[in-house]
Amino acid sequence: MFTKILIANRGEIACRVIRTARAMGVKTVAIYSDADRHARHTQLADEAIHIGPAPARESYLKGERIIAAAKSAGAQAIHPGYGFLSENAAFAKAVTEAGLVFIGPPAKSIEAMGAKDAAKVLMRKAGVPVVPGYEGKAQDAATLQRQADKIGYPILIKAVMGGGGRGMRKVDKDADFAESLESAQREAQSAFGDSTVLIEKYLTRPRHIEVQVFADGHGNVVHLFERDCSLQRRHQKVIEEAPAPGMTEAMRKRMTDAAIAAARAIDYVSAGTVEFIAEGDNLDNFYFMEMNTRLQVEHPVTEMVTGLDLVEWQLCVAAGERLPKLQDEIALCGHAFEARICAEDPARDYRPETGRLLQFSVPEGPFIRLDSGFGQGDEISVHYDSLIGKLIVGGADRDDALARLRAALGRSHVAGIASNLNLLTRAAGELDFGTGHIDTGFIAAHPALLRHTAPDFPGWACLALAEQLDLAAARATDASPWAATDNWRLGGLAPLVWHFEYDGVDHAVSLLAQGDHWLVSWRDEALPLRLVERRADSFTIELGDRQYHAHLHADGATRWLKVGPTRWRVRALGAFGRPPERRDQAGGHGGSVSAPMPGRIVSVQAAIGDMVVAGQILLRLEAMKMEHNLVAGSAGKIAAVLVAPGDQVVEGAELIRIEAGA
Ligand code: ADP
Repeated sequence: MFTKILIANRGEIACRVIRTARAMGVKTVAIYSDADRHARHTQLADEAIHIGPAPARESYLKGERIIAAAKSAGAQAIHPGYGFLSENAAFAKAVTEAGLVFIGPPAKSIEAMGAKDAAKVLMRKAGVPVVPGYEGKAQDAATLQRQADKIGYPILIKAVMGGGGRGMRKVDKDADFAESLESAQREAQSAFGDSTVLIEKYLTRPRHIEVQVFADGHGNVVHLFERDCSLQRRHQKVIEEAPAPGMTEAMRKRMTDAAIAAARAIDYVSAGTVEFIAEGDNLDNFYFMEMNTRLQVEHPVTEMVTGLDLVEWQLCVAAGERLPKLQDEIALCGHAFEARICAEDPARDYRPETGRLLQFSVPEGPFIRLDSGFGQGDEISVHYDSLIGKLIVGGADRDDALARLRAALGRSHVAGIASNLNLLTRAAGELDFGTGHIDTGFIAAHPALLRHTAPDFPGWACLALAEQLDLAAARATDASPWAATDNWRLGGLAPLVWHFEYDGVDHAVSLLAQGDHWLVSWRDEALPLRLVERRADSFTIELGDRQYHAHLHADGATRWLKVGPTRWRVRALGAFGRPPERRDQAGGHGGSVSAPMPGRIVSVQAAIGDMVVAGQILLRLEAMKMEHNLVAGSAGKIAAVLVAPGDQVVEGAELIRIEAGA
């Protein structure tokens, strides 16, 4: 076994690899960029080496520098994690040529599966079913359009070098093809340095089922059962589980056989995942989609149902050992889910969020595991992806695991940045999810999952009470804050009215002190309110005859509130404050479009003098590895276009100015 390895990655996966290496007595070397000087993976490793500026292409993608770091630290092997250089055959080759071990498959296996088009051709030859489509060399727009027309809409354009849902566009009708092609190619070029695409028949509401395979250098290939990753947003996984609901032994046999055939066809070694797309409830029609020649983000669910440590297996195989277990020694036991907690706002088109994590907690328990690269106080930077952590929850069977997942999600909390926790909590709570009726269109078919709803009475009561207590505490000079609160009156017995803004709407909550409690009113409701307990940011209040537990974090004027399983971001406007001016909704009020986050302008779809309508896409911005549409907030005439494609913009930069509709 190695005595020291370098981990060519960051975030949760770097921490994950360090954990196993440490347990095996293997020393670890982390690499870090300027943005990650204080990151958890940097702190956790035995040694850490700085490799460059924050942008990944100048640090985590600098293969040569990483290899030099490994050599200088005396590491014998490099674990690439996922993303970054993990599926870069040239890097794997360079590592080997430098006399180090690449903890992953041989470069030629990566190459064979690296391009989705070549992989499909290879798999078809190996007798594995593939999705019907075009994967030809001719890439001119006319040929591609002809092929798409021939396949029949809807179709899917995929970047052959793509991953993580990038460079992928669904096209519903021929008229939309050209524009989607252009944007897919552009995203592919910028993300993968290659704009080649393939076209596939788009299966409506399919399931994504993948098989974990493992091979050693001695000719042994096994599978570790399947995972269902059908709960997706924009073709990216959100909640994964193992095993797949409704999987029969017969179907599992066909799928795992196909996966092992795929691995054997490319002389595979190490951990790999063969992804299939399956149509319909009976999973009878399944097709090969691609093989990921690395450890997957969702590998923990497999670990939970097999009791194995996949990173340990990777290290053993890379060190030349045989697989620790053969097929008949590997058993499937129980059920597991993984929920990806991301810094993004699902209700705002999944806009990535950056900033400092004021709070990040998930409950602890015997069936709960948290894989994360971040802790409270850490910064989610614009330079990398938005994954904060993965909550993995197991149970005796699907119902048991799901009940535990629902409870754990309901008690998890992120504050300081918006997260997808409400979406995860609601999705896991859906009846259809409970019955296993999932497919890749699940979130789209349940639009209520994304909707923001304003806090209800307990939330407002807690918010107002916290303001009042803090104000009283600030005013109390020599008395205890509680005494001051009880005795203090502003304007005699007049209630104090606190204003908050949620989603552009002003909410007024009034508090009237009444001896040992308050009378709180919101809209046309009024109830007695007591503070039962306040410990740092956690509150227990009694509203009417019920107790509610809440978490409340203040950051400037922003209040991060959680009551029960729901979280909100609210703005505190103060007491006696005048209701704020309503924000302009759609309508001829003019205004400007500004950058919601730092990024690069990829295209501008409006010119000076154009008349635009509210909601019309005006620009595309690339940030945090995704393209984002920026739309007109109101109708009007374009008065100024302040940026051009290729421009880097800072957060808040004005990009386009719109004049009230002429
Ligand atoms: P990536 O490598 O970018 O993750 P994949 O090829 O693995 O791309 O596909 C990602 C997701 O896109 C799948 O899980 C599935 O939801 C969807 N998808 C891919 N191919 C098809 C298809 N032919 N029809 C419908 N959905 C598809």
